[in-house]
Amino acid sequence: MANIFALGPALFLGMVAAGVAADPVPLMPKLPPGKVVLVLQPHHDDHTTDYGMGGLIARFVDEGYDVYYVRASNDEKDGSALPAENDNINHREAVAAAKVLGMKEVISLNWRNDYTASIPLNELRAQLIFLIRKYKPEIVLGHNPWEHYQKNPDHRNVGRAMAEAYWMAGLANVHPEHRKLGLEPHEASYLFGKARLDWGLGHTPNVAVELNEEQVRRKQTAYETHRNVYAKPATARAVKAELARQGLYIPEWAGLDDQEAAVRMEEWHMNWISRKRGAEAGVRYAEDYYFLDEFDALPGLKAYLRDNVVKP
Ligand SMILES: [Zn+2]
Repeated sequence: MANIFALGPALFLGMVAAGVAADPVPLMPKLPPGKVVLVLQPHHDDHTTDYGMGGLIARFVDEGYDVYYVRASNDEKDGSALPAENDNINHREAVAAAKVLGMKEVISLNWRNDYTASIPLNELRAQLIFLIRKYKPEIVLGHNPWEHYQKNPDHRNVGRAMAEAYWMAGLANVHPEHRKLGLEPHEASYLFGKARLDWGLGHTPNVAVELNEEQVRRKQTAYETHRNVYAKPATARAVKAELARQGLYIPEWAGLDDQEAAVRMEEWHMNWISRKRGAEAGVRYAEDYYFLDEFDALPGLKAYLRDNVVKP
């Protein structure tokens, strides 16, 4: 019998992630109320990767919200070109992917990719506070800063600045100079945090968001739009070689070159993760999140309101 667990390390890691038992995640009955969503992420592709939030963004757009994407890094390390060229290509592809999802704008802060640890936290936070006050989102999306063992420095640092800005943008005495520009304090009411479960612990999704098939497809198309980093042929080549050593092959890959096979694998994975999260929540497709709302800072208040509120 073929030993599929002897497959290459990349595939094996995927199997480990797939095998993590998940408690049922409650389905969010409807999206939070609002008009504007601000996505605060480090990288060009953080809204579309397999663990990402492209489906939720598509759903917000479909339901009439204006969604803006902030890309804090210049993404110079992502891709096979030299840094300056990667920055250009990745920015172009980020704008195209944002259009696929229906977002209004990509705002690039251009910090050096993978060197965000050297940015003073307060400086990055001040930029995000400024943007929150300008765009006035009710809803903020970003990387869950409470995820442990996140090995990507940009995910850690931008996630932390995002969480602080989400709260502090509402405080009038934080950056009072913004008022001279006509920007008033603004506190968003809802935060969706995302993380990669295959890299670490500490991220505990508490809500699932249902997606329809078209939203999953748009998320996938947006992901594919990042051609500079998408579907590396070496991945398919390694899988093919390992399967061949075991006398196995994938019929669907017959006649495909390594690049085409890598694309097929990515398409399968994107659809699989949406189906898997959906199955965990009892629907066809979903994404899951760590969700905070305006009452989470006040333990017991939701229960008090539920028990005491009446109609006049
Ligand atoms: Zn990223």
